[in-house]
Amino acid sequence: MKIYAIGGYSEVGKNMTLVELGEDAIIFDCGLYLPPIVELENKRGGYEEYELRAIDALPNDLSFKKLWNKVKAILVGHAHLDHVGAIPYVGYHYKEASVVGTPFTIEVLKSLLKDNPNIKFKNRLVSVMPNSSYIVKGKKEYKVEFINITHSTLQTALMALHTDEGIVLYANDFKFDNTPVLGKKPNYKRLKEIAKEGVKALIIESLYADREAKTPSEKIARGLLEDVLLTTINENSCIVVTTFSSHIARLKSIVDCGKLLGRKIVFLGRSLHRYVSAAAKLQLAPFIKDIKLLSFRKQLEKQLRKISKKRERYMIVCTGHQGEPGSVLERLAYNRLPFKFKPKDHVVFSSSVIPNPANIANRKQLEKKLKEKGVRIFTDVHVSGHCSREDLRDMIEMVKPEHIIPAHGDLQKLTALAELASELGYKLGKNLHLLQDGQFLSLG
Ligand SMILES: [Zn+2]
Repeated sequence: MKIYAIGGYSEVGKNMTLVELGEDAIIFDCGLYLPPIVELENKRGGYEEYELRAIDALPNDLSFKKLWNKVKAILVGHAHLDHVGAIPYVGYHYKEASVVGTPFTIEVLKSLLKDNPNIKFKNRLVSVMPNSSYIVKGKKEYKVEFINITHSTLQTALMALHTDEGIVLYANDFKFDNTPVLGKKPNYKRLKEIAKEGVKALIIESLYADREAKTPSEKIARGLLEDVLLTTINENSCIVVTTFSSHIARLKSIVDCGKLLGRKIVFLGRSLHRYVSAAAKLQLAPFIKDIKLLSFRKQLEKQLRKISKKRERYMIVCTGHQGEPGSVLERLAYNRLPFKFKPKDHVVFSSSVIPNPANIANRKQLEKKLKEKGVRIFTDVHVSGHCSREDLRDMIEMVKPEHIIPAHGDLQKLTALAELASELGYKLGKNLHLLQDGQFLSLG
């Protein structure tokens, strides 16, 4: 087999990997590079492929044109835009490929496709439940398992592709959370079984390979939220909480706190609407009956006028945790919506700042604006959805791969994972391989 690093091996984002198996080929993930398009969610009508190419936001699959016709499936591990977001723009290159993912991932993809009626994508979409499998039919047949794992969005799967030469296990993104707030625990049993069947190659995320820690459970984030929301003086204040729109478990914890406070809970913003609607459609958003979910400007403005009159009776959950221009929180902070912050109102960031210069600058500016208004700010009420070094060590020891290919990061991050693999006895160039975007590896 040959493994091609198309995107996500020289940066964090636009993840895309192609596995060539004789006359067939299979793709893992097809995502966007988000930093240049932070305003993406706020632009109606969507983008064109050439616009996104011009800002380097798409995986560069143009240099692999000779393989396009071989591709029989695009397998997607979860619903984050850096894994699924490029499919509307480049999926049509792969005319014979079905797009396969768990139901939540496919539902989110449908919503992305609906946003952009001009795109050429006509491929078949296939939903596969977590902990079940799908057969890709090419010149040969290949079983793909979607093994349930925990992350920061619903129905995330590790994908195990069974080939004549052994299993390729694709592990972007995951953490080991034994007390998830929503969804099932990692399927350790199946991971141990495939280790026995023989994992030829493990493609594994490197994002926090240099963090000497075990990433805490989502249960801990729930505790942090309870501390901030239930034990501070907030009786007369409006409470605004912002988090990742795709993080349905986190949203559940926020709603649970809002209910304990006896507040009416209103979700505002387009990307929240997208992800929560997709979850609700699949009966995966148990809190849907407890909230109002609004995205259109007129509805949103009407609701905010109402909240203004009885601010202490509401909890607003909205977009804007990175300070994104055009997000609800940013518009609130700049008085562009019919609601004015008052001193001692609360803004809770249930998120971390994604460390790129645009986000850092946007968040700083947003916090400055809020502080000018006397708002109380609570930052980092959050735990990550990505594994740290000690989880990565457990994963490698559990699945015992023949070869390791670090992914999901720039060279510095990939190198940190390579160092960990070296500790575990792997040798660079022999059974440990550092690929950059545009390179490939032949495994005999
Ligand atoms: Zn992710």
